[in-house]
Amino acid sequence: MNKEITVTCFDINNEGKGVVKFDSKIGFVDYLLPEEEAIIEVIYEKKDYFLGKIKKIIKPSKDRIEPPCHHFFECGGCSLMHLSYDKQLKFKQKKVKDCLERIGGLKDIKVEETVPMDHPFNYRNKIQVPIKSKNKEIVSGFYKEKSHDIVKIDKCYIEDKRASKILEDIRTLLKKYKINPYDEDRHTGLVRHVLIRTSHINDEIMVTLVLTEFLFPKLKDFIKDLRALNKDIKTVTININPRKTNVILGQQDRIITGKGYIEDDILGVKFRISPKSFYQVNPIQVEKLYSIALNNAFLSKDDTFLDAYSGIGTIGLIASKNVKFVTGIEIEPSAVKDAINNQRENKIDNAEFYQGDAGEFILEQAKHGINYSVVCMDPPRKGSDEKFLKTILKTKPNKVIYISCDPATLARDLKYLSQDYSINKVTPVDMFPHTFHVETVVGLYLKK
Ligand code: SAH
Repeated sequence: MNKEITVTCFDINNEGKGVVKFDSKIGFVDYLLPEEEAIIEVIYEKKDYFLGKIKKIIKPSKDRIEPPCHHFFECGGCSLMHLSYDKQLKFKQKKVKDCLERIGGLKDIKVEETVPMDHPFNYRNKIQVPIKSKNKEIVSGFYKEKSHDIVKIDKCYIEDKRASKILEDIRTLLKKYKINPYDEDRHTGLVRHVLIRTSHINDEIMVTLVLTEFLFPKLKDFIKDLRALNKDIKTVTININPRKTNVILGQQDRIITGKGYIEDDILGVKFRISPKSFYQVNPIQVEKLYSIALNNAFLSKDDTFLDAYSGIGTIGLIASKNVKFVTGIEIEPSAVKDAINNQRENKIDNAEFYQGDAGEFILEQAKHGINYSVVCMDPPRKGSDEKFLKTILKTKPNKVIYISCDPATLARDLKYLSQDYSINKVTPVDMFPHTFHVETVVGLYLKK
């Protein structure tokens, strides 16, 4: 049996785990909140830290709430549902502040209050779930942390309700049509994952079935049944992934019915979303995020605007009516294709989109004497890179707007940029309620 100890939590770390001290060793305890006293089991121990699991809470925090979701403590998809929403927002603000100080060495920077979501539930417009066979039942859900064991989820509180219903119908129909889920140990079976994307504005839903091979008996009937139960499904695609891999999507895609994409609307601009394109997962908060980003830029008709890491062109196309010209750069070819289509569909004639690495692109542009007055950068979690940041310092755009989904890499990059830029405003936005993730917008101005 593992050791049991009594501890008092004094902080919460960036992943939402309670931080404790015992015998001058630091420990991290899932779901323990600051000021709580609890008996915990030590489940893992190293020379300098240990991990613990709550056995009994002796003194609960006044901020602890009963999570509405009964899968919460085993699922791992959310990490803060036991903490009041107000305190979740405070946690995210502090997380950004801590990263700026610790990683970026950026002291005395004011971090605004986290922009909240009014009804922080059922926001996710994209779900991607594994399908498995468990005790002769077809189940979908989440993998338990660091395992291949699936946690069966019947109702998820953060995904779009329409997606939950479709998933339930898919499980029933797979059983009816006797289609086997993929078994990764034996490398047998057909259905690996289901991907569902919902449009916030339109009644449009896209379902993508990820299969090991294109051999689905009575596929047309299956889809007909599914669509009869869910009228909003406007398009169904198949993705083939035959490999033994953790990567969800394979290389080949086929449209089975509909256009192969859905459309959504952000701040009056229409966007086409195909299965592989990046699209922000919270359609309600995204309007706030982009508005804050663009307000930070105080755009004018003389501005030349670079939308770096542009995805399907969202930020650039929204900015286009307020600037002279927009250039977008994005590495994923299908997203660039979507961006160009979005530009045409919205009849925007002062924007263009290129495919390639953002750092190489601006370096190349700079060599040809092309500079931008405003650069908006929205890199993936790993942040930007030296090539990109170095060129920014060399070409000196007046304003840089940094949108980040990881405060740690944001802090690292801001440290670099702050050599020549002053940090004007740092605003965390709650794009992912109940998880420890936070999106941050930063406005940077060239030092005079
Ligand atoms: N601005 C968009 C997308 C942000 S996500 C939006 O708000 O929707 C980050 C994007 O960066 C992804 O589309 C990813 O494909 C792209 N990306 C990742 N590495 C890149 C690189 N080195 N150069 C250019 N784009 C990159």
